[in-house]
Amino acid sequence: MPTRRRSWAEPWKVKMVEPIKMTTREFREQALEEAGYNTFLLRSEDVYIDLLTDSGTSAMSDRQWAGMMLGDEAYAGSRNFYHLEETVRDVYGYRHLIPTHQGRAAEHMISQILIKDGDVVPGNMYFTTTRLHQELAGGRFLDVIIDEAHDPEVMHPFKGNVDLGKFQAVIDEYGADHVPYICIATSVNMCGGQPISLGNLREVSELAHRHGILVVHDMTRVAENALLIKEREEGYADVPMADIVRQICDLTDVATMSSKKDHLVNIGGFLAVNDPGIADKARNMVVIYEGLHTYGGMAGRDMEALAIGIRESIQHDHIHARVGQVHYLGHKVADQGIPIVQPIGTHGVFLDAKRFLPHLDQDLFPAQTLAAAIYADSGVRSMERGNVSAGRNPETGQNRRPHLELVRLTIPRRVYTQAHMDVVAESVMEVWDGREAITGLEFTYEPKYLRFFQARFKPVE
Ligand SMILES: *Cc1c(COP(=O)(O)O)cnc(C)c1O
Repeated sequence: MPTRRRSWAEPWKVKMVEPIKMTTREFREQALEEAGYNTFLLRSEDVYIDLLTDSGTSAMSDRQWAGMMLGDEAYAGSRNFYHLEETVRDVYGYRHLIPTHQGRAAEHMISQILIKDGDVVPGNMYFTTTRLHQELAGGRFLDVIIDEAHDPEVMHPFKGNVDLGKFQAVIDEYGADHVPYICIATSVNMCGGQPISLGNLREVSELAHRHGILVVHDMTRVAENALLIKEREEGYADVPMADIVRQICDLTDVATMSSKKDHLVNIGGFLAVNDPGIADKARNMVVIYEGLHTYGGMAGRDMEALAIGIRESIQHDHIHARVGQVHYLGHKVADQGIPIVQPIGTHGVFLDAKRFLPHLDQDLFPAQTLAAAIYADSGVRSMERGNVSAGRNPETGQNRRPHLELVRLTIPRRVYTQAHMDVVAESVMEVWDGREAITGLEFTYEPKYLRFFQARFKPVE
């Protein structure tokens, strides 16, 4: 007897709905022009399916909403802070918790605390806010990710891995005294949501610690990374998610977290550290920039929802369905021969704009252009991750022209259905069919910092 295919489905049902608006092509073309062809500048109301980001866009569970009613809004020593601290210790093992309003605040503090003028900070690919805070603290980011990560066509199960030879070369060239830490992201956002293996992380951690270099964990998507370790790395198939997550954290010294991703809340984050001296410095800084060390920019209710979200984030059923939905969309698009980053990542499907629009020079911003074209076609909002996001090299003033020129279709957690994914795939196919007629974009306004957020463009003639 042939075995019958058995589908899996999300481990939740819908309890409340939010209507979304369908618009005409004419309306969307007008909206795009007003937004300077930057999907960040569109009004969310004018978006049909919003795949701009998975940041802060998750649907909370009924348990999290119930937690919101348990907010202890005391200025100091809120009960919810202690619940959060206990949860972080229990799930991740980090000893000291400094809450922040979101991830970049934690990046700011750790960069200021650990980086001296002239230092270098290696990492497994840059992230926009992470690198900027390193630079503002007087440091310079150096990419030590494996070469495969920069090639969207190469299949590799752990494209987030560090090239130990590159890391060693940084230590040899600059001296360990000028390398305060290595920054390790789990499920590396900028190369398509690609995981690092536990085997590689173990070697990175050993090499760093042998030279007195700290390991800072950008743990924004640690659960998504842990799932792929379970599925792909030998010896982990039967290890519970919680144990894999814990093993990752145990190899690192400091963590910065944007809880707007993995943790299923709309706002929040933290810095977590093991060293009491660093914790003291961070507690001294958090009162300047965020708020008291027992709330750090979050309301008590937000800390409660976050503590509950941390536990939900490492449940295998949840993370399997979350990444499964991303893979459903990815296969649907790739099966049409449309170029995407392979293997399909954890939080989104990344279209390869260089191969999608090969007739456009990179300084005509193919990914920015493609994101605009998809919105015009269907009202689906995506995000550029390419030449605009990479910014200019501070030394030469030229566009960085990164290898990866991508459009990210990022899937919010627990928000959209499989039918929404079908609509997205059909829109990408429609734009693919008309790709030859697409021309590029040029700046009409270019901000100095993190230009992708607020830049404005116009189509080139
Ligand atoms: C989102 C993100 C950050 C920054 O966090 P915010 O909460 O947006 O400030 C840092 N690193 C990675 C990998 C991220 O995805």
